[in-house]
Amino acid sequence: MAQHTGVIGCQKHMGSLLNRKGYSGLQITSYPSRSLNFLQRLHQNNSTQDHVLPNKVNLKIIIVGAGLGGLATAIALRRRGQSVTVFERAPELGEVGAGIQIPPNSSRLLLEWGLGPYLEGKAIEPTTIKFRRWENGEVIGLTRLVPDFRKSFDAPYYVVHRANLQLSMYKLALDLGVDVRIKSGVRTYDPSTPSIMLDDGSVHRADLIIGADGLKSEARKIVLDGEDQPPQRTGFAAYRAMVDVKRMSSDPDTAWLLDNPGQNCWIGDMRHVMTYTIAGGKSFNMVLSHPEDSDPSTWKQETAAQEMKQHFEGWDHRLAKIINMIEGTLKWPLLSGKPLKRWVSLSGKLIILGDAAHSMVPYMSEGAAMAVEDGAALAEILSLITSPHQLYSALKVFERVRILRTGQMQEASLVNGKLWHFPDGPEQRARDAAMRPEVEGKHFIESPNQWSDPMTQVWAYGYDAEKEVAEAWREHLDVSSKL
Ligand SMILES: Cc1cc2nc3c(=O)[nH]c(=O)nc-3n(C[C@H](O)[C@H](O)[C@H](O)COP(=O)(O)OP(=O)(O)OC[C@H]3O[C@@H](n4cnc5c(N)ncnc54)[C@H](O)[C@@H]3O)c2cc1C
Repeated sequence: MAQHTGVIGCQKHMGSLLNRKGYSGLQITSYPSRSLNFLQRLHQNNSTQDHVLPNKVNLKIIIVGAGLGGLATAIALRRRGQSVTVFERAPELGEVGAGIQIPPNSSRLLLEWGLGPYLEGKAIEPTTIKFRRWENGEVIGLTRLVPDFRKSFDAPYYVVHRANLQLSMYKLALDLGVDVRIKSGVRTYDPSTPSIMLDDGSVHRADLIIGADGLKSEARKIVLDGEDQPPQRTGFAAYRAMVDVKRMSSDPDTAWLLDNPGQNCWIGDMRHVMTYTIAGGKSFNMVLSHPEDSDPSTWKQETAAQEMKQHFEGWDHRLAKIINMIEGTLKWPLLSGKPLKRWVSLSGKLIILGDAAHSMVPYMSEGAAMAVEDGAALAEILSLITSPHQLYSALKVFERVRILRTGQMQEASLVNGKLWHFPDGPEQRARDAAMRPEVEGKHFIESPNQWSDPMTQVWAYGYDAEKEVAEAWREHLDVSSKL
């Protein structure tokens, strides 16, 4: 759904509708609507060569970081024929931190890129997301993922072990011809050449350098020209843990959670616990969010398991049983950035994306998904330029579209942090009452559950990162041609 905001976008659309004869001019609306999607699908089916058109401008691109963002971007760019080298500091790949959700706005792209066979037997498609009352596990919110999400968004909602996802993306990148160099930390950037220097002193040049180097990005400091805007503490932290499903299946109080692959999220005063099975059903993943103001450098991981139990004392006794089965946990600070003023360096040859550009609390489960969209959008817009002189303009259009999208997702994530964490009282009761129709299978047109709310759903999961940026590029060319 390509959307245009503002009076000018609206006037332009009305003008083009009034000027055209017949219906063939229908493309997009200035208001959020899916009424023209059937026409877009028709045009896509009639012109599948859109996706196999070779680039008109072949670029040599360096990506710093082989996290989910760096690898997604490498795959997307390589599929469009760009020459891509990824430098990763870590001695080996294999993300820590257990599970990750892959919502349809991301899975659609990953599957289109050919990741499906690499994820075979590893990804799970939960049937529902259930919100449960903290003290007794009563279902208070319900999103039907299967079949509704596939039907609505033409793509599955997956959960997967992070290491499985990262290694699958790594293999796909290698098979497509991406040059991935592990144990290759980048020490310095020269944004004007542009080039990077590795820890071993070797210098590597490219046409474009992409910093996908995560929350503590060094590339971001250069892009922001010395005025870094690092993500800030939010007053929350999360314990991340996995539980052995064999132990869970031997107790009827916990075995039911394994029967039907689903996501269950207990919500209460300032805390929540998100759970789902991963690794093809072999592990049970938990993220336990709680208030935490102290400096992460003072945390002791050895006492984390004990603290975690205290945080959830008095919650649903079945949840307490699972928490007691956790053998080890890691405590992570939950940080959030604000929209940055730019992602493209002043030289126009270094850009940032992924967590380096838009870290967010994980309450919409969209952080990595945004990085996948970044990669798709960048590859798309670079495939549309017809001369190297257009590179800077294309990057600026990409930056504008992506800052808007990811800034909104940062906000939506913080909103979930408020919605889920009401103490018992009037707001909690009103929220639960507003989610009741979805629990009872009745028709509803709005919900405080952002996974269910029809308008939020279309915005979050129906978003087409390639189409949005392509449309913005066409508009840019249109405006430039009239200057
Ligand atoms: C508790 C929690 C749950 C989450 N759940 C979800 C979810 O369900 N769904 C979702 O979509 N997102 C989720 N996220 C967010 C997601 O994990 C991140 O948004 C995503 O992993 C960011 O990927 P990235 O590649 O941008 O950064 P990173 O994963 O941080 O990768 C950066 C990479 O760059 C490398 N690097 C850094 N500096 C250098 C250098 N100088 N030289 C070479 N290499 C370098 C690092 O070693 C690293 O490999 C969650 C986050 C948390 C904390």
